[in-house]
Amino acid sequence: MSGDAQEPPHAVRVREVGPRDGFQNEPEVIATERKVELIDALARTGLRRLEATSFVRPDVIPQLADAAEVLARIDVPAEVSISVLIPNERGLDAALAVLADVPAARGGAFDEVNVFLSASETHNRKNINRSIAESLKGLESVLARARAEGLRCEAVISTSFGCPYEGYVPARAVLDIAARLRDAGAQEIGFGDTTGMANPRQVQEFFASAAPELGGEVELTAHFHNTRGQGLANVLAALQVGVSSFESSFGELGGCPVPPGATGNIATEDLVSMLQEMGIETGVDLSALLACARRVQEILGRPLGSHTLVAGPVRWQEG
Ligand code: ZN
Repeated sequence: MSGDAQEPPHAVRVREVGPRDGFQNEPEVIATERKVELIDALARTGLRRLEATSFVRPDVIPQLADAAEVLARIDVPAEVSISVLIPNERGLDAALAVLADVPAARGGAFDEVNVFLSASETHNRKNINRSIAESLKGLESVLARARAEGLRCEAVISTSFGCPYEGYVPARAVLDIAARLRDAGAQEIGFGDTTGMANPRQVQEFFASAAPELGGEVELTAHFHNTRGQGLANVLAALQVGVSSFESSFGELGGCPVPPGATGNIATEDLVSMLQEMGIETGVDLSALLACARRVQEILGRPLGSHTLVAGPVRWQEG
């Protein structure tokens, strides 16, 4: 089969999604000042891609109601790309208004947008109250407008490897949605294992068929959750079929609003630690990243799920 393991890539790109995926799913609202502090610190760890916030309705997700203020206040190095999550056309309107407000001299408020939908009807309905067809129609328009503004576009497909309500999600259905999003202007497709149902064999087979099917121009990104402790095993499986772009969350923050308890993106520090130990470049300074995870743990006032945060980096010699 085409899913035979190959040499892993020598370098990977990591997008940190904690400030959005993580802060959104915390029961309390984190102060804007703390968010800005954490984003600024993450942007100085060597991470080049950060999802900073989301333009969702403040009455639905009050945790991110300060999106415009966060974007106006963060101060990140020029080489760091900032992305924002856009649920629909109204969200894009709000995001573009912020873009117009932040001086281009500062490099703009953000340079990428992420849109999303689910690969299963029931999850899509429960999460965003639309059918997949309705979502696709709306996102096609969002993507066209965002591209016209010169923004890079990623589309994330949730429940790509299984749905908590419907169970099995056919890879065919996921790839058809991905192709529509690519044709609508998405330059990157993220495949989300939203409730941690994926296994390494499934991941390997999926990405082995996704790459030839979606063509070389679209970047394929894996977004795994560690709900059942299989997140890094799935990363390895994806690496072995050539995936070199991953999304993760410092401190293992994050999850999904539905169903309740669908928590835990893979921890960025666990991902970076594993990749570095494998000799795969991430560009990230692990101790600087761990300082960010320790700080968010302190701010939240509860122990987080990240392993490397507890154990510290691997040390091969004393001193
Ligand atoms: Zn996630």
